[in-house]
Amino acid sequence: MSFFKRKPSCHVPSAESAGKACKRVCLVGNPNVGKSVLFNALTGAYVTVSNYPGTSVEVSRGTANVGDAYCEVIDTPGMYALLPITEEERVAREILLNESPDIVVHVIDARNLGRMLAMTLQLIEAGLPVILVINIMDEAERMGLSIDTALLQEKLAIPVIGAAAAKKRGLPELKQAIAGYDHKKHAVFGYSRRLESDIEEVVSLLLGQYNLSKKALALLLLQRDEEVAALVRQVEGANNTAVEEKVLEKIFARRDSFHLDLSMERKAVVKGLMNGVFQEPASEKVSFGERLSRLSVRPLTGIPLLILVLYFGLYRFVGDFGAGTLVDFLEGTLFEQYFNPWITGVVKALVPVGAVQELFVGEYGIITLGLRYAVGIILPIVATFFLFFSILEDSGYFPRLALLVDRVFKKIGLSGRAVIPMVLGFGCDTMATMVTRTLETVRERIIATLLLALAIPCSAQLGVILALLSKFQGALIVWVCCMLLVFLVIGYLAARIMPGEAPMFYMELPPMRLPQFSNVITKTYSRMQWYFLEILPLFILISVVLWVGKITHLFEKMVDWMTPVMASLGLPKETAVAFIFGFFRRDYGAAGLYDLQTKGLLDATQLTVAAVTLTLFIPCVAQFLIMKKERGMKVALAIALFVSVLAFSSGWMLNKFLYFTELL
Ligand code: GDP
Repeated sequence: MSFFKRKPSCHVPSAESAGKACKRVCLVGNPNVGKSVLFNALTGAYVTVSNYPGTSVEVSRGTANVGDAYCEVIDTPGMYALLPITEEERVAREILLNESPDIVVHVIDARNLGRMLAMTLQLIEAGLPVILVINIMDEAERMGLSIDTALLQEKLAIPVIGAAAAKKRGLPELKQAIAGYDHKKHAVFGYSRRLESDIEEVVSLLLGQYNLSKKALALLLLQRDEEVAALVRQVEGANNTAVEEKVLEKIFARRDSFHLDLSMERKAVVKGLMNGVFQEPASEKVSFGERLSRLSVRPLTGIPLLILVLYFGLYRFVGDFGAGTLVDFLEGTLFEQYFNPWITGVVKALVPVGAVQELFVGEYGIITLGLRYAVGIILPIVATFFLFFSILEDSGYFPRLALLVDRVFKKIGLSGRAVIPMVLGFGCDTMATMVTRTLETVRERIIATLLLALAIPCSAQLGVILALLSKFQGALIVWVCCMLLVFLVIGYLAARIMPGEAPMFYMELPPMRLPQFSNVITKTYSRMQWYFLEILPLFILISVVLWVGKITHLFEKMVDWMTPVMASLGLPKETAVAFIFGFFRRDYGAAGLYDLQTKGLLDATQLTVAAVTLTLFIPCVAQFLIMKKERGMKVALAIALFVSVLAFSSGWMLNKFLYFTELL
């Protein structure tokens, strides 16, 4: 990636822009601060949304009428700091640096002024032409917070505007500030003497020309920003060796704690800025949300709260209601009693060829198996899970959960940040494997991918397993203990075996709030849509593969080959079918177990052994493909092989253990 691209021309409608000056305005800021709302309020009609070149990140561009001129407005993806961690942040920084905006509008949430000002400092420090928009003022005022924007403007020496974009408040002031923007010198924030001298020593060695200030460059180099290091290498040429040596010397002197030291110093600067600017209501009454937030991050109360959330959310809502009541109705009543007999009759009457009848309405038929599994079993379970996940997400619980589990996660090579892909894995491991991109280090991404493939069952699998095992006393506890044990032991060993630095953890804590109905529905809907677009074609394809397997008798042969393996786990031959299904999709395999159990082929011990082995067993085809895409073929194959060996050996040991102890 290069920071030296030519500034592209503004995309404004030519007739309107004829003869008028054109400014490029970038909106930047954390996610969820109202950038998109502000973008829409500014732009209106001419909007294009496209992927940023070479990435899957969407960027919106539009035009705004400001004074007597037109501006190009760019809505950038959410970013927390100038030092990027995720792909979204990388794209946002690329836009800031490559597209040389005339004005950078930093949008922040008035309710979190203290936390968000740190990035304003970074943008100013980088020499960018910044306007600060303190948004969501309406909510802040409702909470009794008071913000002196005039004083902050004086302290920062840039335009500062209080706004409520959703109510179009502050819009005229913002347009005025854009129209009359004068990028003169702004405030300089001093750090401690030691830090300033470290920065100065690096800055004095930088001789080239850059798009951002040398102070910001030096700070990014000292935080080991690889992209900036590559850029400096290219610009400085032979001189770069001296720069690299100096940077390494400074990092070494601080024993790698540079990032932490800097954020502490920035916090101190922000504290000074907030003085006199920000006031909380005098009689500070702790709100219910704040009290819940505090309870959720302390281990003594946070762990019981987590157990309650899991019990009611996963066990009662997804397990009992989704996988129980809804599946019984859709699969048991609607499909088995009404739809399947009817469609079988129709197909048999219309198509006389036996093999074709089999393809659509046979034992593995596209309709009688594929559609029944997808709509009757998987849909209700996945829908209830995504609803549960979206409610938790919108309430602001996840960042607190991340803080709570950070200490344990560190032991298995992950940081609290990994809690989001891990919980999402309980919905769909494929989607979660994609989200591991947001983790900081390659090592953390590989460990998370391995644990998702191994010990995190997806919602469809989980729903079926919960429904099946809860019929036998103790079976569910054995299964949960096995999964937890494997998760912790393999995570611990992986963290020991894989070299690399421990991940840093810093996460924004947005206010905890009652989930908003429209947000929850939109998020659930878009996840369901993604899932179904991906899953339904696969279900149909798998039905066809199984049909081919059946008519060529290959499938029966595979069952025969697997019989000794099944026998060594103490399982009947028919269980091989569930494992072969499971190879195609995890949830398909679990649904296969469901069929076997209803036929009375498995007792409590066998069901538990089969459930444990199947949960640990190789990820589904879709997850494998995403693993390959995200981590490369070698890592994906190594994980798949390891997971398969571990699954069967664990199943074998569990069978022996349960057999001798007669636990179930
Ligand atoms: P982005 O991620 O920064 O683009 O944030 P969005 O524009 O999607 O807004 C995030 C949430 O904040 C949405 O639910 C908006 O409705 C809400 N929001 C945005 N601006 C305001 C505002 O001025 N007041 C209030 N109360 N809510 C707002």
